[in-house]
Amino acid sequence: MLSKNLQFFSLLFGSLIFGTGFFATGLSCARATGRPTYEIQNAISSDNVVPLVIIGSGPAGLSAAVYGARGKIDTLVIEGNKPGGLLTETTSVENWPGETSILGPDIVKKMKAQAQHLGARFLSDAVESVDFSQWPFEIKTENGQTIHAMAIVIATGAAPRRLNIPGEDQYWGSGVTSCAVCDAPFFKGEEVVVIGGGDSAAEESMQLAPYVKHVTVLVRKDRMVAAPSMQDRMKGFSNLSVKYNLEPQEVLGDGMRVTGIRLLNATNGEIIDMPIAGVFLAIGHNPNTGLFVDKLKLDKAGYIVLKPGRSQETLVPGVFAAGDVEDHSYRQAGVAAASGIKAALDAARFLTEIGLNDEVAAQLQGQEFRGIHEAVQGQVIRVKNMEDFNSLVTNSSGTVILDFFADYCPSCMQMLPVFEASAADFAGKAIFAKVDADEATDVVEKLFVHKVPCLIVFKNGELVAKYNDVMSKKELKAFIEQFV
Ligand code: NDP
Repeated sequence: MLSKNLQFFSLLFGSLIFGTGFFATGLSCARATGRPTYEIQNAISSDNVVPLVIIGSGPAGLSAAVYGARGKIDTLVIEGNKPGGLLTETTSVENWPGETSILGPDIVKKMKAQAQHLGARFLSDAVESVDFSQWPFEIKTENGQTIHAMAIVIATGAAPRRLNIPGEDQYWGSGVTSCAVCDAPFFKGEEVVVIGGGDSAAEESMQLAPYVKHVTVLVRKDRMVAAPSMQDRMKGFSNLSVKYNLEPQEVLGDGMRVTGIRLLNATNGEIIDMPIAGVFLAIGHNPNTGLFVDKLKLDKAGYIVLKPGRSQETLVPGVFAAGDVEDHSYRQAGVAAASGIKAALDAARFLTEIGLNDEVAAQLQGQEFRGIHEAVQGQVIRVKNMEDFNSLVTNSSGTVILDFFADYCPSCMQMLPVFEASAADFAGKAIFAKVDADEATDVVEKLFVHKVPCLIVFKNGELVAKYNDVMSKKELKAFIEQFV
């Protein structure tokens, strides 16, 4: 079956292979250009080998997984610290082909189920480093796994941009956030602003409107760049308005929480202080390419540069990129999915060229990557109300770590298993408790939780640290070690 599919890819791309000066001579094949040497024997004699590794699990990574697995290539998806990517933070998507309206998280769920059905494997871990100077390429993960990949598709997506203005960091999680779908319920009855003029700003404002007293979208130019259909939908909310030519200068607060935002009126230079309780950022994204600096060619904005021509290959043969990590212009889920498909087809062609066939696949079986460890869950107490909180925290000695979550918050769902695994690692050294922000509203209010996930650490009954974001297992371990 493998050879049938690989033969298909060979037929499909055969002319290209010869056209680009590469040659395929079976097991001993090496590429004519580029470093390192792509000797199939190196893969056969390596440990923990995977023919196709996909880094990232948004629409680009998942569609690459569907095509890789369907091509009968052993495909491993390393999900990363934000499984499902940015789509998990959107609500209804009306431009996903074939669906009148579908929730972003549902697109991701369906794509993952399809990839798994076809045989793709998923690793709940994040990549810590990559080495493209040797082949098979080496990937090290945060949970200590080492994987040797014969081909890689990078689909690490992009992360929301920050304003970099005074007050933004100080009040991050205490009124400043970038996830409306996660944090809107903390702003019930409040006045809030969304910064930005694109589709994200339009969507965030509509996610907020049902909860807040009023949401104002602050656009720095004289028009929004959001799709006209999105702007039309915004008009359906009576408590949503848009103001133009206003540039954020500073997030204002009382030391504890956001109380306003200072704006520059770009038309007359006037400075305006607007009293509000929440600032939601929707000012675009930066590509997640930190891992690849000095390993791959990146452009000035940090996007991965692809080989010229109709290919998803980077300048390192065997390493491909797809989706928001390489796409400057379109940045749509559908386009990301399409580029993931192209990347998987390109990777399949590459694997054929270097000599992966049934015989090699059979030889690889002994040393293929199997090191998937299920996280051991430790004891995590549930705090349901103030009474539970007082008995667990206020009168206790030692370290207590609370993880505030909401079941509609994708980052929280990703954080909980990491938290549970850490509870096992620190058993006897700290008490771990989780708090459903919708259930223990009195605790949420007392501790001023305005963003989930939120970790709060108490030592001998005193609050010693608050952290308002998702953490990888490694980051969480380093964080907790400060207090035990
Ligand atoms: P965009 O780049 O489209 O828009 C960013 C907005 O933020 C622009 O209005 C920009 O203003 C503004 N901005 C940037 N920096 C600042 C700053 N420092 N202060 C104030 N404003 C600032 O990003 P989006 O995240 O909105 O969208 C990214 C992609 O994702 C798009 O392709 C979009 O179509 C897609 N998307 C699709 C959705 C859907 O279909 N459901 C939902 C969300 C996103 P300026 O114009 O002046 O630079």
